[in-house]
Amino acid sequence: MGEKMEKPAIAGGVPVRDEMIYYGRQCIEEDDIRAVAETLASPLITCGPKVDELEKKLCGITGAKYAVAVSNGTAALHVACLAAGIGPGDEVITTPMTFAASANCAFYCGARPVFADIDPETYNISPESIKEHITDRTKAVVAVDYTGQAVEHEKIRKICDEYHLVFIEDAAHAIGTKYNGKPVGSLADITTFSFHPVKTVTSGEGGAVTTNDPGLYRRAVLAHTHGITHSAEEMHEKDPEGSWYYEMVSLGYNYRMTDFQAALLISQLGKLEKFSRRRKEIVARYDREFADVPGIIVQKEIPQSDTTRHLYIIRLDLEKLTCTRREFFDAMSAENVQCQVHYIPVYFFPFYKNRGYERGLCPVAEEVYRGIMSIPLYPLMTDKDVDDTVCAVKKLASYYLKK
Ligand SMILES: *Cc1c(COP(=O)(O)O)cnc(C)c1O
Repeated sequence: MGEKMEKPAIAGGVPVRDEMIYYGRQCIEEDDIRAVAETLASPLITCGPKVDELEKKLCGITGAKYAVAVSNGTAALHVACLAAGIGPGDEVITTPMTFAASANCAFYCGARPVFADIDPETYNISPESIKEHITDRTKAVVAVDYTGQAVEHEKIRKICDEYHLVFIEDAAHAIGTKYNGKPVGSLADITTFSFHPVKTVTSGEGGAVTTNDPGLYRRAVLAHTHGITHSAEEMHEKDPEGSWYYEMVSLGYNYRMTDFQAALLISQLGKLEKFSRRRKEIVARYDREFADVPGIIVQKEIPQSDTTRHLYIIRLDLEKLTCTRREFFDAMSAENVQCQVHYIPVYFFPFYKNRGYERGLCPVAEEVYRGIMSIPLYPLMTDKDVDDTVCAVKKLASYYLKK
């Protein structure tokens, strides 16, 4: 780097690149577009064969016995809570270091989310903190695979078995990740996925739940399609008037995915290994580059997790730097590297504050939040995009380092 390059763009220097790069972006190719177009021209564009094909494919990839495709990851969380029988008066333990939907799903069911703190190095929910927050009302745990790293399955499983809790895994970040060699999706009692365009594979909007439990599966199926059944076994009327007859047996929603979204996702899932490989390559490069950069802390991984990373987090060691997170973030933008922050602790939001959640509930999450930002990570990044991002982080860390 020359003299000019070392001065940050925000202080009048030359930016590391001319074109803005963003923290995440989908990869849609010709064959994905063809798959959607073919399904749009077919007789059934919803409730058709592509959704069944997708559900089978998801079972194959996750190793789960059952999968239900739904309209988005938030619907998947709602369906999971309904299947788990969560209702008014119940408590659901989750992490504050997540997108609001992981906690909101408890409120959808009239229950209350309770926030356990995170591990200071992996940033995933701390099993010890889950245990400390269990009460007589606790019904379930929603554990989030933050950035794609698998949660501590062995420890959480043990706690859930001991206290008879339903283990719900929010794997919105984690399709393709394995824990002790087993794919995420077959490990918790019920797992939810999101296929929003920033996630590893996409259907535009979309989600799914997977489970090995036939009871949870049937309740999830009913919840995502109006609580309506056509199955003779589930119907109360044992002598139906005719073949048109069906019954609504519980209160459900319309959370169905369309067939052209399913076609897109089937095509995307065919590329999961390719996407996963490229993401791992970029993560390995970042880890190497940042390991010894003063002022930058890298997220730690547990050895059990073979991670397909959705987000790459850098954490500023604010003690060592002269800048705030905001200054560093704005300086990255000035270099034409647009970061994002994942996440504002959920209970900081006014909706939560108005319901009695106060700052200070999870001191580790709050402290981690002060220093984090997500830098660009997606399969379509070129080696030059990665170089530029590395260069911007190093340049700013060195510029802001306390002397
Ligand atoms: C994206 C996301 C969701 C919600 O998924 P949508 O498909 O956007 O509804 C839930 N939880 C986490 C952790 C997410 O990142």
